[in-house]
Amino acid sequence: MDVVSKEVRSRMMANIRGSNTIPEIKVRKLLHKHGFRYRLHPRELPGRPDVVLPRYRLCIFIQGCFWHRHPGCRYATNPKSREEFWQAKFEQNVERDTRNMNELLQQGWRVFELWECGIRKPEAEITWLLEAVPNADLQKISWPTGSSATPDDRNS
Ligand SMILES: [Zn+2]
Repeated sequence: MDVVSKEVRSRMMANIRGSNTIPEIKVRKLLHKHGFRYRLHPRELPGRPDVVLPRYRLCIFIQGCFWHRHPGCRYATNPKSREEFWQAKFEQNVERDTRNMNELLQQGWRVFELWECGIRKPEAEITWLLEAVPNADLQKISWPTGSSATPDDRNS
């Protein structure tokens, strides 16, 4: 396993699916504090969403920007070595995410995709969630959009 650099490896470790990452805990704490009740990683739902609020028919995915390829985000970097390997890996991840989310939407779930770069900011910046969760008009959200990216980071 020494083929990946230290930097890449630590990002890999931080992105193991289903672990209780810090951004994930932050979202859960905020929701819980305001009386929202949820389930975590239910096995029977496609992609085992990180946080599920059955009462609001809502699934929340908290996505690592590197691993899940946040569009236009400066954290969605491309490793300098083994480029083809990484590209294939990334494509798989993005395809899987899209498939899972489409399936949930088809089953009548709402889907919020929250990227870690947004959640790492102060709590005040994610309190919009408290209004968005009960808002049935919001079927699908991806937040934040990668507006903080520089042109050099853009990749597609
Ligand atoms: Zn991002």
